[in-house]
Amino acid sequence: MRIGQGFDAHPFVGGRPLILGGVLVAHPKGLDGDSDGDVLTHAIMDALLGALALGDLGTWFRADDPTVHGARSTDLLMRVMAMVRERGYSVAQVDTTVIGEKPKVRPLVPSIRDALSPILMAAPEDISIKATTTDQMGWLGREEGLAALALVQLQNHND
Ligand SMILES: [Zn+2]
Repeated sequence: MRIGQGFDAHPFVGGRPLILGGVLVAHPKGLDGDSDGDVLTHAIMDALLGALALGDLGTWFRADDPTVHGARSTDLLMRVMAMVRERGYSVAQVDTTVIGEKPKVRPLVPSIRDALSPILMAAPEDISIKATTTDQMGWLGREEGLAALALVQLQNHND
């Protein structure tokens, strides 16, 4: 059994779609970033890499890599999951928190769990998506962006 934690944050910008947990969300702004800026998926990838002590996202996905620039984060997550499986592990459980004022995440939770479940090869019931605000404090409170935390538990197939 191995455990990893991840964190990520991206600023909002105009003229980009908002993708959260692999789901297209109706929102006036999207998240800036080299890929689609999917902060939740990035936090999960960071946690998966952390669980196997494989470094952080920047170790594997460089901004100047043409396969990363403009990539769908769920495609990058598939690449991380391939690394997890190659090392004999599978996802037992994921717990995440999205931090920001808007959009409201709770109505999106079923869609996000359904989107991530086949990629993580984990049941939707084992993928927890939570949300909180900073009570309008700081840059998250001013709706300048979103942050996400993730915790993952991996199980070894040989156990
Ligand atoms: Zn990111």
